[in-house]
Amino acid sequence: MEAIKSIDDIRKRVKSLKQDGKTIGFVPTMGALHEGHLSLFRLAQKHADEVIASIYVNPEQFAPDEDFEEYPRELEDDLVKCREEGISAVFAPSDDIMYTGRQFLSIEVDELNKYMDGGSRPGFFEGILLIVNKLFNIIEPDIAVFGQKDIQQFRILQQMVKEFNHDVELVMGPIKRANDGLALSSRNAYLDAEQRKLAPGLYRSLQYVGKQIKDGATNIQLLLEHQKNELEAKGFKIDYLNLFSFNTMAPVKNTEDNNKYILAGAVYLGETRLIDNCIIEK
Ligand code: AMP
Repeated sequence: MEAIKSIDDIRKRVKSLKQDGKTIGFVPTMGALHEGHLSLFRLAQKHADEVIASIYVNPEQFAPDEDFEEYPRELEDDLVKCREEGISAVFAPSDDIMYTGRQFLSIEVDELNKYMDGGSRPGFFEGILLIVNKLFNIIEPDIAVFGQKDIQQFRILQQMVKEFNHDVELVMGPIKRANDGLALSSRNAYLDAEQRKLAPGLYRSLQYVGKQIKDGATNIQLLLEHQKNELEAKGFKIDYLNLFSFNTMAPVKNTEDNNKYILAGAVYLGETRLIDNCIIEK
C-alpha cells in the first residue's frame, strides 16, 4: 500500500469508491499507529463500507515549545498496519500541500476551549479545527471516527460539524489501554522505564474518584485534591485533574441527575504530557 500524497489523487480515489456506491468512513491520525488507532479503524469499518485514514502531524496544533519536531513519524510501519487492517486508502500529505502559503482565514473557538487541554494549550483546538475542516472538505466522508481519549476534541468537533453544516456523522471510539490501564498514546514512547511504571497512576486516580462519584460522593473537590497530592508525591506534575460538564467543557463542583460529565486529567511525567478521562453519566 502506498500513501496518497496529493489532494487531487485522494479525491479521485474517494470519488471512484463513491461511484461504486460505497459509504466512506474516515479516521484522521497523526501516525505512529498503535492499537488505539487500529480500534478506531475497526469501529469505522462497522459504520462504513470503506475506511480512509489520514496520517499527518499538523504543525498548526503544536505550540512553539511543544514536541512537533520529536513527534514519532513511522510512515512505512503505519502503512503496513493500514494494509493489514484493510484500510482502503491512506492520505499522508506534506505540509506544503496542507498549508499553501499565507493563511488569511482561521477558525476561532469560544468557551469550549477555555478549560482542560484548551486552557493549557492556547491555539491547540484552532489548529485541530483548521486541519479537520480541511480534511472533511477533501474526503467528504459519511462518518468520521475520533477517540474518547481526546474528548474535548470530540466535543468541539461535534460543534464544528453542527455549526458549519458538515454532512458527516461523528462516532466516538472508546479508549484502548495497556494491560495496566495506561491509555495508549504515541507519546508513551517518550517515557523511560520508571515513568512507564508510574504512568497508569493517572487512570487509577480517575477510576477511584469516578467510582466515588457514581456511588454518590458529594465531596468531589476534596477527593480530587487528595488524588492530586498523591500523584504529585509519586512524581507527577499536575496540569489539571477535575470534573467537567460534557456539554460546556467547564469545571463543575458537583453532579446532577440526567447529566453527562467528564472526569479528566492531564499530567506530566518529566517532559511527557499524558491525558486520560472517564465519562460519568448520571
Ligand atoms: P492522534 O494520532 O494522537 O492524533 O490520534 C488520532 C485519533 O486516535 C484521535 O481521534 C484520538 O482520540 C484517537 N486515539 C488516540 N489514542 C487512543 C486510544 N488509546 N484509544 C482509542 N483512540 C485513541
